[in-house]
Formats: sequence, C-alpha cells, structure tokens
Amino acid sequence: MKQDNRILEARLYSSISPDAKQLERFGKFLQNKYGQEVPLEWIESDAFPGGFRLEVGNDIYDWSVGGRFRQLRDTLVKVPTKNGNIIPLLKETISSWTPEALAEQVGEVISVGDGIATVRGLDFATYGEILLFADGVRGMVQDIRTNETGCVLFDDDESVTEGSSVRRTGKTAGVPVGENFLGRVVDSLGVPVDGLGDIEAAGYMPVEAEAPSIIDRQPVDTPLETGIFSIDSMFPIGRGQRELIIGDRQTGKTAIALDAMINQNGKNCICIYVAIGQKTSSVVQIQQTLIKHGAMEHSIIVTASASDPAPLQYIAPYAGCAMAEYFMNKGKDVLIVYDDLSKHAVAYRALSLLLDRSPGREAYPGDVFYLHSRLLERSARLSDNIGGGSITALPIVETQAGDVSAYIPTNIISITDGQIFLESDLFFEGQRPAVNVGLSVSRVGGDAQTKAMKKAAGTLRIDLAQYREMEVFTQFASDLDDQTREQLEYGQGLMRMLRQKQYHPKSQHEQVITLVMALAHTMKGIPVDDVNDFIEGLIEMFETEHPDICSRIDSTGILDDDLKQEIIDISANYRKELTHNGID
Ligand code: ATP
Ligand code: MG
Repeated sequence: MKQDNRILEARLYSSISPDAKQLERFGKFLQNKYGQEVPLEWIESDAFPGGFRLEVGNDIYDWSVGGRFRQLRDTLVKVPTKNGNIIPLLKETISSWTPEALAEQVGEVISVGDGIATVRGLDFATYGEILLFADGVRGMVQDIRTNETGCVLFDDDESVTEGSSVRRTGKTAGVPVGENFLGRVVDSLGVPVDGLGDIEAAGYMPVEAEAPSIIDRQPVDTPLETGIFSIDSMFPIGRGQRELIIGDRQTGKTAIALDAMINQNGKNCICIYVAIGQKTSSVVQIQQTLIKHGAMEHSIIVTASASDPAPLQYIAPYAGCAMAEYFMNKGKDVLIVYDDLSKHAVAYRALSLLLDRSPGREAYPGDVFYLHSRLLERSARLSDNIGGGSITALPIVETQAGDVSAYIPTNIISITDGQIFLESDLFFEGQRPAVNVGLSVSRVGGDAQTKAMKKAAGTLRIDLAQYREMEVFTQFASDLDDQTREQLEYGQGLMRMLRQKQYHPKSQHEQVITLVMALAHTMKGIPVDDVNDFIEGLIEMFETEHPDICSRIDSTGILDDDLKQEIIDISANYRKELTHNGID
C-alpha cells in the first residue's frame, strides 16, 4: 500500500472495550491500509452490537453483526443458480465466506434547493468529483468549504432531501465519446436527445482536461476555410485558432458559424456545435439546416437548452470540447462552435450565486475569466509526432448595443486570437454578413492563408479603410470631383462584392478570381446594384471556359504574376463584351 499523505485519525466504536490483542490487530490493519501510523480512539457505543465499526476520515469499516450480515446478503445475491438447485451452492458460499472490511465514503445532505446541495461528511471529496445521491441523482462537487461541500445537481432535485445520504464515486465528470456521435444531438452528459436511439461510445473522456502543453503544439499555419468571403480574404482562420464571433443579437452570428460548418463538407474536418441556453426549437432548426446542407454527417450537436438546469448549461462547452479532444487526439481536425459564451457566463453566475460565492463585477464571480480561458486554451494544433490533430474554436459572444467593453466581451476578446465583429447598422443596411472591417482582426490566421489568397486580397483592407474614411468625410458634400466620386464608387463596389447569401460558401478559386478582378478596378462603371450579378456571371464563365485556372488555384493555392495577369485580362474582356452587348 502506498503512502497516504492525508492526516488521518481513526475512531473505533463498540459496546465493549477492545483488548490489547485486538487493538494491535487494528493498528496493523490501519498501517497496512494507509501506509502510516494512524492514531486510534475508542468510543463506547451500543449501536454496533457484537462487533466493531472503524471510521477513518470518511472510510467506514463495518465489523458489527449487522454489517457482516449485510455483506453476506450482498454475496448471496450474486450466487448463480444451477439447475434450480440452490441449496448446495448456498451452503458452499456460506462455509467459504470470510467477512471483509469494506470501505465506503458516505455523507449527509444538509440542505438542498435550486439544483444545489450542501453536503456534510465528505471531507476528502475532490473538486469536480461526481457524487451519487438517493435515487441515483448525480451531482458534481463545485465548492469545498471547511466543514461542508457544495455541489450542483445534474438531475431533478426532488428525491434529494435534507438528511439523505450521498456517496463519493471517486470519478470526475466525463462524457462518452466516439465516432458514433457524429450526426447526433446529445445533452451535456452525452445522452442522445434526438430520439434516434442509443449511442455506442468508444470511450469516456473527462469533461475538464488540461490544455495541451507548448511542446505538444505547433504553430497555426494551415487554413480552415469558412467559405465566407469577407472572413477568408481579410480575417483568415487557421486550424487550431480561436476566433471570436461577436455582435448584438440578430446580427448573423450563428449564421457565420453554420456557414463555416457547412463549408467543411468533404474537407475531412469534424464539426461540433455547442448550443448553450438556446431555445430547443432553435436547436432543432439548426439540426435541420445542417441535415439539409449535408453537414450533419460530420457534425455533433451538444445542447443544454434554456430550460435545462444551470449546471448542465455550465458543463456543456467542456463536454463538447472533450468530444472534440477525442478526435484531435486521433489526428483529426475539428471545428467547434460555442453558441454562446455570454449565456454560459450567465449560467455560471447563477450557479455561483446559489453557491454563496461573493459576486464581483456585474455580479459575476471572480473566476469567470478562468471559466473561459481554461476552455479556449484547449483548442490547439498538436505537433506532428502526436498526430497533428487540431481543434479550431469559434466562440460566440452577444453584446448589448454594440458595447464590446462590457465584462464578458473584454475577457473573451483577450483570450481569443482575434474577433469577427458584426454590426447591427451594417446588417440592417443589407450588408450581410455584417462584418465591421475596422474592428475585426485575426491575429494568427495570416500565416494560415494560402499564398494565392494572400496575394489576391492584397490591398483590400486598406482600400476599404480609405473608403470608410472618405465616406464619412464626403457625407454632406454636394458636388464631388471626379476622382473622389470614382474612389467612392470603387469602395461601394467592394462592399457589395463582400455581400454573401447564407448557405452559399465560396470556394477558393471563386474568392481569388473575384478579388483579383475587383482590385484591378475591372468593375468600374458597373452600378452597385449589378455588382453581385456581374460577379456571379464572371465566375460561371471562368468555371465553364477556364476550368484549368480554377482547379490550379484550388489544388496548388498559388497565384503567380502570370496567372494573375491572365485573370485580369479575361475579366476585362468579359466586362467589355457585356458592355458591347448592352447588358449592363
Ligand atoms: P441571436 O442573437 O438571436 O442568436 P444571431 O446573431 O445568431 O442571432 P442569426 O440567427 O444567425 O443571428 O441571424 C439572424 C437572421 O439573419 C436570421 O434570420 C438569418 O437567416 C439572417 N441572416 C444571417 N446572415 C445572413 C446573410 N448573410 N444573408 C441573409 N440573411 C442572413
Ligand atoms: Mg444565434
């Protein structure tokens, strides 16, 4: 028995005092069991007739008649029946039976309410450990105080009452994981909620896990294409990156995440969508959307809806992350969406207030930063010698009236590698996706852009920044000189170009050709309302008449000067022909 580092004391209960020989045997037993000398105190008690009861910390060893009787009963229950004749077997079992010292750690519920139970007597329970209450209700240790333990309940708390017993399980919270979860909708504990039957798991992973160490990681340098033009061209996301999607309500945050998931079709990237605190009907709609666009086969939805208890909403993103880690550890690429972390923080706040933790800024508990940092740090690109898998995270945060300086948004902005900022005004103007180019940023994704995309996107951000400045400047000017008007029109054209319908991800060649064409001012003179039609026609022409160019961009990811010039020439020609035919 290895050395037990706890400071231990033993209490021995019996009706008659133990003699020296018995005391010596107890001493030996304790030495064997705990690897240290344990001081023993004898307490007279009539509750255990004909035997002893030994308590060490929360371990209880029952050598009383009642205890031995219970043990014998438990053994007899397991005796197999053979040809209906049970007597010889029973006789044999009883004659060969020796009582054992069984250790169990049992505590008592002091109070319960709002999904929180306070428990006494589980001094050695660890943070995050699963406890079993009466009727199989499960709970998790969340708060360790001097004399009691606060824990959250995952199931209905009706059957848990004051005075009912609690048992330690020695296990931390975990979820079943595996390939069979693909295509399914599950709750925070991995239980299917889509009515498609049981799921056979390949394993069980802890919900809370340590993030991969620096040595186990490699730099983010492989693109994860979202198929969203404004993101791939200006704020590219790399595998292993954490890019925040932030904006007011109803600004298309979920839409961006879903489009990114749909764009992974056939790209060997597994998607996990974690819905926190959403309406069940919204989650069903998301499932339907993913099915319709063929993305559900490579996706898992983990949901803790608004009506689920706060503890389930609290562990949902960690559970989703554990499922993602299973795939990452197998060398696969995973995209995980947390929709959204503002609601997650609110669930955690509710839970913390119920646990009597002192509230801090905006009534959130002090460790709310750690709540999200430990989650998002688990996204990584693993080094090649341990498989090279990755988890790319797209956390979503909802702001109030565009205020990014509120507590939770600033926290998560500082944890992530960049943010896509969505703006209500743009959204209502019809500029969708409503990406604010000035406030969005991707801090590591630049290395992950393909060479072709990097070269094609060239001055796009600067051109748009100039346009925005000029737009403000000339807002009230009545007559503009030609050059200014031209520049304004050019900027408006670029903004139009970035508009994109939902569920229409753009491929690499489509984006590169459009960028090269537009930044060469080919669209000059086309009315803004016709820009999107023009681009659509152009891409169609390229795909039918120059498929070699398209496939070259897609397969090599390289755009050399000759190819760039070729695209400019072809586009200019196409534009000229259209004008000839009087179409635009
Ligand atoms: P919530 O705050 O309610 O979660 P949200 O920010 O996630 O909202 P979405 O639900 O993604 O926003 O989108 C809001 C609405 O805008 C939806 O009806 C969606 O179909 C529409 N929408 C989003 N993106 C686009 C787009 N690119 N083109 C057209 N409509 C869009
Ligand atoms: Mg949403």
